Amino acid sequence: MEQDVLMQNNLLAERNRGYFEARGILALNFLSSPGSGKTSLLEKMIPLLREVRPVSVIEGDQQTMQDAERIDALGVPVVQVNTGTGCHLDAAMINRAVREMDVASGSLLCIENVGNLVCPALFDLGEALKVVIISTTEGDDKPLKYPTMFHEADVCILNKIDLLPYVPFDAAACREHAMRVNHHLEWFELSAATGEGVEEWMEWLKRRLEQV
Ligand code: MG
Ligand code: ZN
Repeated sequence: MEQDVLMQNNLLAERNRGYFEARGILALNFLSSPGSGKTSLLEKMIPLLREVRPVSVIEGDQQTMQDAERIDALGVPVVQVNTGTGCHLDAAMINRAVREMDVASGSLLCIENVGNLVCPALFDLGEALKVVIISTTEGDDKPLKYPTMFHEADVCILNKIDLLPYVPFDAAACREHAMRVNHHLEWFELSAATGEGVEEWMEWLKRRLEQV
């Protein structure tokens, strides 16, 4: 049953991927625990990115429109997907959301997954890159506790580095744990609140956009 669900999802994810590639759309799947700062990071990134490319957003949450309203305030196209009791987005939800909104050719599509480090790792959405976010208010052993997520990710962002002086979080140890699980990970450290480190991540992403 579980295998069947994942197989169906993979088929549809490949269709999404083909659609994105044909239209030069770079789709990013943002993954984290609740409260790691996915929406705050998007709020910081979008004003910087929209100067170079159109940006659109799919917001996944079990309930509420709150995150979509925060993105809507920036003036970019956004669709909220409420999963109800579901704890992850799947490829069919992305397929429907993309039909609902106008995702421009040559654009960046940011997908904010439901806050959960477990099953979203198993559901391919057709994205080009999985971006996992961990924050300094969590445990620095998260990569070891949720290895599947960190193994599947392409990019890992350590957020809330402005809080490092006040929390018992060892950034070097966290990075080491993450790299032990996946030595191909691109690693960034930043604060969506203060903007520190955001530029390095934006430079990397802009270079990636040029390759699409
Ligand atoms: Mg959010
Ligand atoms: Zn789930």
